[in-house]
Amino acid sequence: MKAMRLEGIGQLFTREVDKPTPGPDDLLVRVEACGVCGTDRHLFHGEFPSRPPVTLGHEFSGIIEATGSHVSGFAVGDRITGDPNIACGRCSHCVNGRVNLCRNLQAIGIHRDGGFADYVLVPQKQAFLLPAELDPMHGAFCEPLACCLHGIDLAGIQAGSSVVVLGGGVIGLLAVQLARLAGATTVILSTRQASRRTLAEELGATASVDPSAADIIETIAGPNGLVPGGVDVVLECAGVGETVIQATKLARPGGTAVILGVMPQGETISIEPFDLLFREVKLVTSFLNPFTHRRAADLIASGKIEVERLISRKVSLAEAPAVVSNPPAKGEVKVLVVPGL
Ligand SMILES: [Zn+2]
Ligand SMILES: [Zn+2]
Repeated sequence: MKAMRLEGIGQLFTREVDKPTPGPDDLLVRVEACGVCGTDRHLFHGEFPSRPPVTLGHEFSGIIEATGSHVSGFAVGDRITGDPNIACGRCSHCVNGRVNLCRNLQAIGIHRDGGFADYVLVPQKQAFLLPAELDPMHGAFCEPLACCLHGIDLAGIQAGSSVVVLGGGVIGLLAVQLARLAGATTVILSTRQASRRTLAEELGATASVDPSAADIIETIAGPNGLVPGGVDVVLECAGVGETVIQATKLARPGGTAVILGVMPQGETISIEPFDLLFREVKLVTSFLNPFTHRRAADLIASGKIEVERLISRKVSLAEAPAVVSNPPAKGEVKVLVVPGL
């Protein structure tokens, strides 16, 4: 079978490899689609810890082709989404319910072979059923949606909340939709790219702003801004230092800023603790998808989250290394690697 392998920093190739054999608790899954994520680019550039050689791809779904001898509740032919983040269940964080902080965390597509391949092994405890009638491309959105859900949960969005989403990539555009579903009545998306602002408004944002056109703090939280004084919740979905700073300033006194974006390891920013203290702004970070994958799968299955319009293009495994090793094209939201192409 074919697989896209990270063989070292800056070394990414699609190769012929052996088809994996499922262990007793594994599902052998024929990958239908696997999303390219910013984390894959960080891994390629050595900006995120990894363990090459390894097959990348952590946002995948597909059809079960074989099951191990101890598997129950799944059958050959079922469509599943895999939660890539495998917690040990025994360390001090796991036993306290903080599985995303597991000391022995193993991620499919980062530490062990992932979904940029014809087939991937998924331990049964990491698999969640998807409907047979679902569009085969849509299951690949469960993982990013699950990460987004964790951030939305931490943000404490309530009916009537005001929310700013910084960043118009896939996480930002999913966050806009989840914030509306959670009951936010004001959802403002900030991104430089006009096509993404238009899309955000079509997906439920009540307004969108171009941070390069004017001072975004004034435009949103200033006396004559869209929400004078700031918003209840800011979701930083860009993974950029500048937007993390903006997030703390756009939150109203007592408001919450949640960082979902992944900045390159080692990068630092400067913020003013006095300002955070004086306005008692909660600065919260949201890492991975603890216990949210089932809800994400249900949301995708329900069709309540629009994902079709987030697919910018579909590429084959042969084309995939060029996609991951280059920055995203302008206006691109999500590229799916489709092994069947
Ligand atoms: Zn990802
Ligand atoms: Zn653990």
